[in-house]
Amino acid sequence: MIIILKPDAAEAQVDALKEEMAGRGLILQEIQGEETRMIGLAGDTSHLSAEAITRHSFVERVMKVSEPYKLASRKFRPQDTVVEFPGGQKIGGGGLAVIAGPCSVESEEQILSIAREIKLSGAHFLRGGAFKPRSSPYAFQGLGLDGLELLKTAREKTGLPIVTEIMSAEHCGVFARDVDVVQIGARNMQNFPLLREVGNIGKPVLLKRGPSCTLDEMLQAADYILVEGKSPVILCERGIRTFETATRNTLDISAVPALKKRSHLPVVVDPSHGTGHWDFVFPLAMAAVAVGADGLMIEVHNHPEKALCDGQQSITPFLFDRLMQKALKLHEVVSDRGDGKQESHGP
Ligand code: PEP
Ligand code: MN
Repeated sequence: MIIILKPDAAEAQVDALKEEMAGRGLILQEIQGEETRMIGLAGDTSHLSAEAITRHSFVERVMKVSEPYKLASRKFRPQDTVVEFPGGQKIGGGGLAVIAGPCSVESEEQILSIAREIKLSGAHFLRGGAFKPRSSPYAFQGLGLDGLELLKTAREKTGLPIVTEIMSAEHCGVFARDVDVVQIGARNMQNFPLLREVGNIGKPVLLKRGPSCTLDEMLQAADYILVEGKSPVILCERGIRTFETATRNTLDISAVPALKKRSHLPVVVDPSHGTGHWDFVFPLAMAAVAVGADGLMIEVHNHPEKALCDGQQSITPFLFDRLMQKALKLHEVVSDRGDGKQESHGP
């Protein structure tokens, strides 16, 4: 529910209403539109009477939000969310943020070598799994906390913030302290207790789309994190399961404009897991940039043929360098696409 206030609403009256709503256990978000001031209410609003609220003299009108997600909704926050980092990196806000690195951290030599190369090519973040969600219990499961230590060393040597997946709430403390972006993997997108815990970490969360989840379900998962009020969310399209077998997943390119229409959250695309083939990563990365993604997540390995995980979809640092240069050029061409503006009026 969104309460639209009259322009001359007195602060004391607004405060009293806000207090009443908070007292009912609702989550409040102030929304400053171009000319209007609004209060977004998230939570169970079924017991609220829109009519009764409208009777307040300082309330212009009340809008019911029919979507099942609230805090992630563009109705609650019309302007794009920009996630900013202490080193000056940004995700959202018009730039192209590139996250690159191996599927999993394998050794100090491996992660340092890849981190240095992707940094030279202009990547903004280093990714690498320490805790790996593998389909088979017999596959390499990651180096765990040792892998996290190696990522920290790579960050120290390159200055690149680190993005890595959390699989268990027991690691929230370590991740809160050591990780720059906490990844929720596709398989955990609807692990609701984990989402709530991660929402309290206070670090940006990269939420990957579940392989069989709709965008509305993804945005509800984002609300699970946002409702805790501490961690901003970055959405990541990484392909969904369809009847097609030519690719590992079907990368849903239309998810980018569809998410951006529904939500203010930044959207990153992962063409590595989205296709499962190293030679499809470049074209799909370009497609993602062309449709307005705020960033890319790319798996890069110095020896893909020897990788312990996802070598078949990893590109070499040499190819990554080309991808990076072309992606930035393409981004310059396609940015400021005038989204949502059918006509532009001169001054
Ligand atoms: C990953 O990023 O390494 C990963 C496991 O991705 P996803 O959760 O999208 O499968
Ligand atoms: Mn992987």
